[in-house]
Amino acid sequence: MADRPQPPEVDRAAASRRAVEARRARAGLKRDVAMRVISPQELLRRALADPTSAAGAMRVTDFLTAIPAIGENKRDRILADLDISPVKRLGGLGSRQRLALQAFLDERLPEPRPRAGRSRLLVLAGPTAVGKGTVAAHIRDNHPEILLSVSATTRAPRPGEVDGEHYYFVDDAEFDRLVAEDELLEWATVHNRHRYGTPKAPIEAALGAGRTVLLEIDLQGARQVRAAAPDATLVFLLPPSWDELVQRLVGRGTEDAEERARRLRTARVELASQNEFDYRIVNDTVARAAAEVAALAD
Ligand code: 5GP
Repeated sequence: MADRPQPPEVDRAAASRRAVEARRARAGLKRDVAMRVISPQELLRRALADPTSAAGAMRVTDFLTAIPAIGENKRDRILADLDISPVKRLGGLGSRQRLALQAFLDERLPEPRPRAGRSRLLVLAGPTAVGKGTVAAHIRDNHPEILLSVSATTRAPRPGEVDGEHYYFVDDAEFDRLVAEDELLEWATVHNRHRYGTPKAPIEAALGAGRTVLLEIDLQGARQVRAAAPDATLVFLLPPSWDELVQRLVGRGTEDAEERARRLRTARVELASQNEFDYRIVNDTVARAAAEVAALAD
């Protein structure tokens, strides 16, 4: 029997590198769904848009167990109910199976929609290290029609930070006074350390003059604003992927290992709160994300 022609060595090496890369990409997507950086529906949309993509090549079994709260038993029951074979890949689902899977996801994990009648008070929050500050600074520098609120804080200025521009740097006694005299729209102790709060007066003045106001604050603050001003527009900034968020956190290099681990745990909890927000915007590039936030003011 004649030998089958074999691909040249280099091609095989390239193919095996591609296979490793594809597996890595699928594993990354599973982390994104597990950490709620992308919704299961979003992953399914990507798979159906391009069945040859990493999302398209993902097995339906891996997809389901990546979803928080679905274990192997539940997964098998779901697949039986939806009449989907466990060997199927997302990109290879038949049209009836796709619809059944979509309907199942929409019922079990509905994607939130923006609430009606929101005001020009924009709140930008998101997980640690997602780049809220950079996006907010970009908006301040490129969208003069939007007022970026300047917070009061008890932390010390970092090199280059200007009082009254980046923050109002105040001592504990002054912060106590701001709280006691009800001069803050919201305030919180961030990372268990320093207090930060949003002065009310400049915001009320700007909103009264018809301007849009942007607050770049933490999640606790965003919740307080929602309670105090239910028509505020809440925006959650997402990283392009969980791996990218980890990279940004580590890459910053300003915290020690224990602090980094603590911030990652916090980020995970923070990501789980995104459904409380009206909009989710992905910070893939700062200018694009900033433009998307600014467009909410139109
Ligand atoms: P940093 O000390 O790095 O400037 O800010 C730390 C965190 O404090 C950031 O997550 C930022 O969003 C948050 N933050 C800044 N200003 C305020 C504020 O006025 N209120 C609340 N709740 N959080 C704030």
